[in-house]
Amino acid sequence: MGIEIKDLTKVYGPQAAVDHISFTVGTGEIVGFLGPNGAGKSTTMKIATCYLPPTSGTVLVNGFNVVEDPKQVRRQVGYLPEHNPLYLDMYVREYLHFVGKLHGLGGSSLQTRTEEMIQLCGLDREKHKKIGALSKGYRQRVGLAQAMIHDPAVLILDEPTTGLDPNQIVEIRALIKEVGQAKTVLFSTHIMQEVSALCDRVLIINQGKLVADSPVAELKNMG
Ligand code: ADP
Ligand code: ADP
Repeated sequence: MGIEIKDLTKVYGPQAAVDHISFTVGTGEIVGFLGPNGAGKSTTMKIATCYLPPTSGTVLVNGFNVVEDPKQVRRQVGYLPEHNPLYLDMYVREYLHFVGKLHGLGGSSLQTRTEEMIQLCGLDREKHKKIGALSKGYRQRVGLAQAMIHDPAVLILDEPTTGLDPNQIVEIRALIKEVGQAKTVLFSTHIMQEVSALCDRVLIINQGKLVADSPVAELKNMG
C-alpha cells in the first residue's frame, strides 16, 4: 500500500528522464523527494498520478496499477502539480466545486467537501474571491484544497513551496504537516531544509537515478 515504484524508467528523447528507479512510500508516511531541477521528480510524480505513461517498470498507488487501473489510482491520489493550472477568473469556492464535480462529487456531499476544504485550508475569508486576486501563498492553499477535495489517501505535491516568500513557506509547510497526518504524502523540493522540516525520510534523485533513500537524521550526520 502507499506508493510502490519498481524499476521505473521514462524516456522522452535520447536520454532517460527517470532511469530504473525503485522506492516505496508506506501508508501514513511523509517522504521528501529531493533533487535539482531536471532530476526527474516531476516526471515520476506525473506517472504516479496517471498524467504520463511509464516507458517501463511498475507503479502502484494503494495497490492499484497506474497503467491497468488509472480510474482507481485517480480516486486514491490527490495531486498538486508544480505549475498548478488554477483558473484565475474563477472564484475560490466555484473552482473547488468544479474540481469536485470532475471527481464525480455532487449534491450535498459536494457542498460538504467544498466547505470542509475551505475550512481546513484556511480559505474562509477568500472563498468568494477570484483566484487571480489571491497571493501566491493563498493560491497554494487553493491548490492543496483542490488536491484533497475527493479525500484521497495519497497526496503527491510537486514543489509546493517553490516561489513563495518565507512567511508563506512556513504556513504552507504547517498546512502540509497538518493535512498529511492521516495520509501518505510524497512531496518534491530542491531544498534539504524543507525535507527536515516535514519528514523523517528522504529520497534523493539526480539525473534520473535514485541516489539515496534514507532517514533524514542519517543524512544530517553525514554532513
Ligand atoms: P524535475 O521535476 O526534477 O525538475 P523533470 O521530471 O521535470 O525534473 O525533468 C526530467 C528530465 O526530463 C529533464 O531533463 C527534462 O528536461 C526532461 N523532460 C521533462 N519533461 C519533458 C518532456 N515533456 N519532453 C521532453 N523532455 C522532458
Ligand atoms: P453549482 O455547483 O451549484 O452550480 P456554481 O458553480 O454556480 O454552483 O457556484 C459555486 C459557488 O461559487 C457559488 O456558490 C459561489 O459561492 C461561488 N460563486 C460563483 N459565482 C460567483 C460570483 N459571481 N460571485 C461570488 N461567488 C461566486
